[in-house]
Parts: sequence; structure tokens; C-alpha cells
Amino acid sequence: MIPKYVKILAASKTRSVSEIQKVIDDGISIIGENYVKEAKEKKALLKGSFEFHMIGHLQKNKIKDAIQLFDMIQTVDSFELASEISKRATTKYPVLIEVNSGEESEKSGVNPTKVLDLVRKISTLPNVIVKGLMTMGPVENPRMAFRKTKQLFDSIKAMKIPNVEMEILSMGMSDSYEVAIEEGSNMVRLGKSLFEN
Ligand SMILES: *Cc1c(COP(=O)(O)O)cnc(C)c1O
Repeated sequence: MIPKYVKILAASKTRSVSEIQKVIDDGISIIGENYVKEAKEKKALLKGSFEFHMIGHLQKNKIKDAIQLFDMIQTVDSFELASEISKRATTKYPVLIEVNSGEESEKSGVNPTKVLDLVRKISTLPNVIVKGLMTMGPVENPRMAFRKTKQLFDSIKAMKIPNVEMEILSMGMSDSYEVAIEEGSNMVRLGKSLFEN
């Protein structure tokens, strides 16, 4: 059971338009895609109202398209990326900072020890607003990584930094969402468990 305060994002990469339409019709109101081109093609065909989030690694040359297409980018992990978003956005564009909470060298996201500095730096940009943190976490035993991300989330929230509204803690996927919710997640990103039922 997923508590009411936890938002469900349908991670819909590789799923067909009709599969995604079905989850929207069933009441899912946030759709997350990983690739700009795929997202653009699908969004044009989807009906109804939903938020559209970027949850994949974003290339610099796709930022302009991404801003137009998505309501939020969950995968900001560098000042460079955030500056580019700020340059191209016309109003305060909502982003999450992606944390490499398991400190795994092959994964994207910013190291936990560097999150606060990055948030402070991004908070100086005119057209970006930080709305929270996102993390994947390690496949094996993600609990401690989730716990660390929640602690970061709470401590940054308490600092009341201008342009930083720590509201969304996006963590947990099909295999880890229960642990993630226990550790304080308020947005889970579900692919398999939602589409393969
Ligand atoms: C694919 C994906 C998910 C969902 O993964 P499942 O294991 O299918 O639930 C969540 N987050 C991101 C960033 C993804 O790429």
C-alpha cells in the first residue's frame, strides 16, 4: 500500500502510448520519461491532464527541447546544467537535484557531500527553482542511501535558502519503493510494477 501523501510517477520509458494512456485514464497524474525524443513523440499523442517529468540523464544540447516539453527536470546534477536551464527558461523552472546516494562511480548524480554546495550555487540562478531531491540508490540494500538522502533533504529544507523549496523527495522504484517510503520518500517512480501487472 502506498500512502496518499506519496505521489506516484509512472516511469514510462519504452512503454507504448496506449499503455501510458491507460495509466493516465486510471488516475496516474505524473508521467516520467528518460529520453527527450521519445518523450516528445509520445506526449503529442497522449490525452488528458498530467504532469510530465524528465527522469533520465539530460544532455546539454537537449535542454531547450526539454524545457518546452517537461514540467520538471528531476536529474540536475551540475551547476553547468542548471545554468543552461536558467538561461533558456523564461520563468522559474522547477528542478530536482539528483543525488548519487550510493556513491557509485558509474551512476549519475552529485555526491552527497557536494549537494549543499551545489544547491546554494544553483539558488543564485534567476530562472531555476530547486523543488527537492531525486535519487536512484543502489540496487542492493538501498536503505542507508535513502536515509542519507532524506537527511540531506531535511537539513537543506531547514536552511530556508531563497529559491529552494524542498518539497519533493523522489526516491524508490518498483523493487525499492517500500523501503524508500519507510525512509521518507514522497514520490515513487514506478515502471515494472505499474506496467507489468
Ligand atoms: C526506469 C526508471 C524507473 C522505474 O524503474 P522500475 O524498476 O521499472 O520501476 C525509475 N526511475 C528512473 C530514473 C528510471 O529510469
